[in-house]
Amino acid sequence: MAETTEITDMAAANERVNDGLFSFIAASPTAFHAVDTISARLRAEGFVQLQEGARWELAPGRDVFVTRNGSSVIALRIGEQVKDCSFRIVAAHSDSPTFKLKEMAELEVQDHHYTQLDTEGYGGMICASWFDRPLSIAGRVLLTDGGPKTVSETRLETRLVRFDRDLVLIPNVAIHFNRQVNDGYAYNRQVDLLPLFGGKGCGAGTLMRLLAEELGVAEEAILGSDLYLYDRAPGSVWGAGREFISVGRLDDLQCVYAGLEAFLAGRDPYGITVLAVFDNEEVGSGTKQGAGSTFLPDVLRRVSRALGFNEEDFSRGQASSFLLSADNAHAVHPNHPEKTDALNHVFMNEGVVLKSHAGQKYTSDALSAALVKTLAQRAGVPLQYFANRSDMAGGSTLGNIAMAQLSMNAADIGLPQLAMHSVRETAGAADTAYMIALMTEYYRTHLEAAADGQLRLVRAE
Ligand code: ZN
Repeated sequence: MAETTEITDMAAANERVNDGLFSFIAASPTAFHAVDTISARLRAEGFVQLQEGARWELAPGRDVFVTRNGSSVIALRIGEQVKDCSFRIVAAHSDSPTFKLKEMAELEVQDHHYTQLDTEGYGGMICASWFDRPLSIAGRVLLTDGGPKTVSETRLETRLVRFDRDLVLIPNVAIHFNRQVNDGYAYNRQVDLLPLFGGKGCGAGTLMRLLAEELGVAEEAILGSDLYLYDRAPGSVWGAGREFISVGRLDDLQCVYAGLEAFLAGRDPYGITVLAVFDNEEVGSGTKQGAGSTFLPDVLRRVSRALGFNEEDFSRGQASSFLLSADNAHAVHPNHPEKTDALNHVFMNEGVVLKSHAGQKYTSDALSAALVKTLAQRAGVPLQYFANRSDMAGGSTLGNIAMAQLSMNAADIGLPQLAMHSVRETAGAADTAYMIALMTEYYRTHLEAAADGQLRLVRAE
């Protein structure tokens, strides 16, 4: 009886977590919106936003965050009794594969009977999954308050925009016109994947008019935009035992959400805990706000200086610092188990994944794995181990990219999922809660490197 109650309680707890995850994802159709959603939550929790262009004055006990490009964010909690310059970081990414509208996007075709949108791929999506589903458009827009005449001062301002209605669709070609479609068809992004935006009478200029209406500004005020397609379909829980969840952008908003919840739940009075959410992971992280940029080291250095630490303290602190790179992992596919390693493979609802790779695309090593195992044990979270098949190349993650700018012990973790980079991905209904529990334990545990290859874990109650 007691066991049944426990299972029911757990199911209810997981349902709450998944509701929170679905709301977070629904509010985050693009990386810009994800960072906006995170920022709003941080503000509500009393965090103060720092500007990169302003002087930072900090003190122990402060909770702060910084954004760059509006699409990456780093949040920090400075312990009340902060005693060294050690940082405990979770890194995840805000972007997902999609299609981006080109600067001039409206393409009138078939003698003006149709208006399409000219897009290009952002990241490596599974193209077939994007067909025949109503999609919408979201992103950011740059506005000016200057008119056509020269004025002494003109302001450029960023606003987020999302059309919260079905707006475009990428139609398949009927099977009667493409009998080979089920034999492995090579989709051409310029030909097959342009979304239909309107019928006769739509025409060029409609998008700008809709944008201006949505933002409540004059069309002339819109000077630039980064606009992307997104799927509005809400998340769902499914399966015989309601054991699976499906929704868009699980990679990597599931880890971002878990990271945020854990970051707010666990604090370390002696150190500095950090949540770093980077844009552009899906296109190589090489932008000013990506994991390969100086964003993270810039922020950590400035915070340490503002707290009165010097360069020597900063370097010493790095020895006790740690980075958990959190990005989703591939669960064994029910139809294609041959894609995964014979032994180091993972399943949904069976816990957090620790990833390793001999070539160090994943940062985990014996020391960092030992730490993660210890934390998982303490938190009562099951751990699974993932490695790619030796004859298959995996993707690289934030961890090894960030390490080029900043060097500290690190491990790669994630949650198992199916259909990575499909417009709608599938994961385990129990797993987000596991990740939150593991990361909360991590954030609450102060680390001290007594010597190279040694770590002391101090859990503040
Ligand atoms: Zn990812």
